[in-house]
Amino acid sequence: MITVNENYLKLKAGYLFPEIGRRIRAFKEKNPNADIVKMGIGDVTQPLTPAVIEAMHKAVDEMANIKTFKGYDDDGVGYEFLRKAIRDNDFAARDVQIDLDEIFVSDGAKSDTGNIQEIFGIDNIIAVTDPVYPVYVDTNVMAGRTGAAKDSGGYEGIVYMPCTAENGFVPALPKEKVDLIYLCFPNNPTGAVATKEQLTEWVGYAKENKAVILFDAAYEAYISDPDIPHSIYEIDGAKDIAIEFRSFSKTAGFTGIRCAYSVVPKNLKAYKKDGIAVDVNPFWGRRHCTKFNGVSYISQRGAEAVYSPQGKKQIRQTIELYMNNAKTICDSLTALGYTVYGGVNAPYIWLKTPDGMGSWEFFDHLLENANIVGTPGAGFGTAGEGFFRLTAFALPENVTVAMERFKKL
Ligand SMILES: *Cc1c(COP(=O)(O)O)cnc(C)c1O
Repeated sequence: MITVNENYLKLKAGYLFPEIGRRIRAFKEKNPNADIVKMGIGDVTQPLTPAVIEAMHKAVDEMANIKTFKGYDDDGVGYEFLRKAIRDNDFAARDVQIDLDEIFVSDGAKSDTGNIQEIFGIDNIIAVTDPVYPVYVDTNVMAGRTGAAKDSGGYEGIVYMPCTAENGFVPALPKEKVDLIYLCFPNNPTGAVATKEQLTEWVGYAKENKAVILFDAAYEAYISDPDIPHSIYEIDGAKDIAIEFRSFSKTAGFTGIRCAYSVVPKNLKAYKKDGIAVDVNPFWGRRHCTKFNGVSYISQRGAEAVYSPQGKKQIRQTIELYMNNAKTICDSLTALGYTVYGGVNAPYIWLKTPDGMGSWEFFDHLLENANIVGTPGAGFGTAGEGFFRLTAFALPENVTVAMERFKKL
């Protein structure tokens, strides 16, 4: 008899975005002519930049020629031309030394942050922020690293670290001993960033507790404050305890192209039950080349072009467009008396719902009275209740319309 992985049965039904979709459909049925402005799902809206398009066209032509055709990308860890561009531009330029064999190119930071847990033991205690990017939690539920879903939200066996207005949405170190810590800065959904001092505390905690930090830096390109680290490896000693995830999705509009990478330093250790230290880098390499055959050559050439002088300039313009949206949203809502967070070093605005409304209550209120869709904070975790996420990934004209409608609410 074939049995199922019963861990999947623990997953909470009614995942955030399906529920949002259901409410929008129900609203549209009653109001077929409503012009809805979507500021909900965190997907980019601007097209790929010319430098990327040109590089990808060229790569397509190479694929059409017997002399330049490419099949599998050897061991699936990414072409050297891309890993060199990553090493030089994302790290060496910030005084961080990363070796080529510490970089693993992939099809997405979602897959990487979801897959990474499988190289670690099943008994590890997982710590996540609350609110949280749901991938970190659900993949550990599927693997069997948690208990059942709790009525109060969350799962048994996971350590949740509340991110509140009081702590600036950067969690305090856990009081208990945890083994695997997921951090995401700049943060989705709160738009918060972590300072060098805060990350230094985390690195210290991980060292002291022989823990590993999984650092999701998918939004590093949105940092405008020069004092905020772009990589956790800007912190001394982080190469001993941290894995970092990056993606071209939000940096360069690759959500529909797919290209990302992870960094697993060769210094990073995890332990056998008998306490013997083991290198983690070969574990991830082994998993990668066993289960993955690499990202398309065309995507990798497109990603390489992100680092060309033209590419850099063009991508900066796109990010500025989004961050201008963020500023418009923050300024307009602040003027209207809302309390808003984020939106300065991240494309997300995290606003406190007015008049003590619940997150979903505010969602319905906004949809019905302003025809605007956002994301209820409660969908990201218990501590997100009473908050609401708006994204700056939108057309500027739609942001203008949305802010006019907020005024009339
Ligand atoms: C969008 C996003 C990513 C990127 O995912 P891809 O699979 O690379 O498109 C990673 N982490 C967070 C928190 C995100 O919001």
